[in-house]
Amino acid sequence: MKPLQQQIAIVTGASSGIGQGVAIALAKAGAKVCINYRSSEDGAKKTLKEIEQNGGEGFIQQADVSQPEAVKTMFRNTVEQYGTVDILVNNAGIQVDAPFLEMSHDDWQKVIDVNLSSQFYCSQEAAKEFIRRGIVEERSKAAGKIICMSSVHDIIPWAGHINYATAKAGILMFAKTLAQELAEKKIRVNAISPGAIKTDINRDAWEDDASREKLLQLIPYQRVGEVEDIGKAAVWLASDDSDYVQGQTIYIDGGMTLYPGFKDNG
Ligand code: NAD
Repeated sequence: MKPLQQQIAIVTGASSGIGQGVAIALAKAGAKVCINYRSSEDGAKKTLKEIEQNGGEGFIQQADVSQPEAVKTMFRNTVEQYGTVDILVNNAGIQVDAPFLEMSHDDWQKVIDVNLSSQFYCSQEAAKEFIRRGIVEERSKAAGKIICMSSVHDIIPWAGHINYATAKAGILMFAKTLAQELAEKKIRVNAISPGAIKTDINRDAWEDDASREKLLQLIPYQRVGEVEDIGKAAVWLASDDSDYVQGQTIYIDGGMTLYPGFKDNG
């Protein structure tokens, strides 16, 4: 039996990059997936096509997850479609970069809303559904699993990206606090902090040779990550194989958080 057989997952921002990779990985592991997108319906269709080509199942759901009412509708539609929700992957995220002194209030707020507040809205809806339904032993030992997509910038400061780094640092404590609060309800909450993974969000940093060389100086393991690296970890965190893992943030970064600048005596 596949590790996520009969389980229902919602993946936010699943029309590209890591969200797309995670949605496909969860579906290969047996989950039926709500593929959330904000504006790229074509991207979401591509995710669904790949899931179906691999024998999986899913459906597409438009929602801006920074809007609480849209999040409620997404959960309602998923429960209507598949009966319940077992797994939430809070993946949607944006970067709107500017030096601190030039950053507009709108650009600060937008990134906090999409990258951090959306995780609050989605997790609240998920937890309500997990508690309503309770544990179904044939599917999982837990009543539900929440995976929060963070970033190495939850602990590495990042000049010129203060809205992004602050939102990600917020996710670190959000996941821990939620895990502490919901553990007795048998809900598991963990986070993944990717390093540099090849997606659209950071295309400038890996597409040409010179940029890639510069990026590799920050990655002791000497390769840029692939979305599959994150997909595999998401499957594990969503499955009973990680049943005793609670409130943890897993860094999947080829060693980016190991202060590579200190390698040769600092
Ligand atoms: P991406 O731009 O390909 O994916 C982001 C996705 O979020 C897109 O599909 C986008 O449409 C969606 N999205 C944005 N705003 C949304 C909203 N309001 N509602 C619903 N969906 C919305 O980039 P990615 O690299 O795949 O990023 C995915 C997550 O991984 C983000 O949270 C990002 O911060 C995080 N991350 C990425 C890297 C990396 O190296 N790629 C590193 C660390 C963390």
